[in-house]
Amino acid sequence: MKILVVEDSRSTYHLPVEQMERLGVQTLSAATGDEALEKFARTRPDLVLLDLSLPDMDGYLLAQRIRATETPGEWTPIIFLSSRDDEASIEKGIAAGGDDYLLKPVSEIVLGAKIRAMQRIVLMRSSLIGLTRKLDAANQELVRISSSDGLTGVANRRYFDETISIEWRRARRHSNSIAMMMCDVDYFKLYNDTYGHQAGDDCLRRIARVIRQNTERPSDIVARYGGEEFAVVLPETTIGGALIVAEKIRQAIRELNIEHASSPGGLVTLSIGLASAAPGFDNPPEDLIQAAAKALLRAKRQGRDCLCRADAA
Ligand code: GH3
Ligand code: MG
Ligand code: MG
Ligand code: MG
Repeated sequence: MKILVVEDSRSTYHLPVEQMERLGVQTLSAATGDEALEKFARTRPDLVLLDLSLPDMDGYLLAQRIRATETPGEWTPIIFLSSRDDEASIEKGIAAGGDDYLLKPVSEIVLGAKIRAMQRIVLMRSSLIGLTRKLDAANQELVRISSSDGLTGVANRRYFDETISIEWRRARRHSNSIAMMMCDVDYFKLYNDTYGHQAGDDCLRRIARVIRQNTERPSDIVARYGGEEFAVVLPETTIGGALIVAEKIRQAIRELNIEHASSPGGLVTLSIGLASAAPGFDNPPEDLIQAAAKALLRAKRQGRDCLCRADAA
């Protein structure tokens, strides 16, 4: 334990330093407020013992200055040492940021006990801070898990539903258009039937990765919308831009060259429905999702492995 003792060297009372050496704590001393501030900043003591009368500033002001240098959540106990025993001085000391107020002369036993008590609080506090950090990390992990899809690692449906509303309002504020695509794996039931569910899972993981790789903006959202269906939201994107992205994805899936013997083309392919909208107050995001889903249905009817865009609303 490291204690900063701030005491006027001209003072006739020289108890603390020697006393604390006998108590086995490491002491640093400062004789002025400025020296104390400098030493406090440089050495970050575990406790400050503060004489109320110093040559350049009083102990109240020094305590306030020390507190002002602490960042939020930081706290170093400050104990005042004073020969003023009036209630107003004690009240002022605590108000200035002090944690205790001892009258001179202080007995070695009382000082030792007070230091131990403060040390106990410091330890308790730092273990609480440690716990809080762990809790924060666990919470962040929980948020991540609760918003991502366990199989593919892309966003899950819950995250998608929340985020599309947020993006919708953002686009409305900025008068931007927003595009989305609904992607569905072709003949995927047959894929499972032919190669097994494990192979099906692998296939979904690879497809999700390709979709993510081909949606480059940080604001783009790729989510698993349902079983073998992925939704992609492209903020600040027109239908023309979305068509380019969708075609890249469609081709990239073909280029994965995943054999699908039960599909007419012999490969795993993707059908994509696209839609875009200019968000307003009278059209909810559900309209955009429905338009993309309808376009997807048309792509399926047109033979799969293709894109279809929704009619302009
Ligand atoms: P279409 O070309 O019309 O889309 O036909 P499809 O067979 O892909 O569509 P359908 O909706 O009939 O079947 C979807 C299949 O996707 C059925 C289901 O077993 C499979 N599926 C859904 N989720 C998963 C999953 O997490 N893992 C695996 N392996 N298969 C899944
Ligand atoms: Mg289907
Ligand atoms: Mg399908
Ligand atoms: Mg489907």
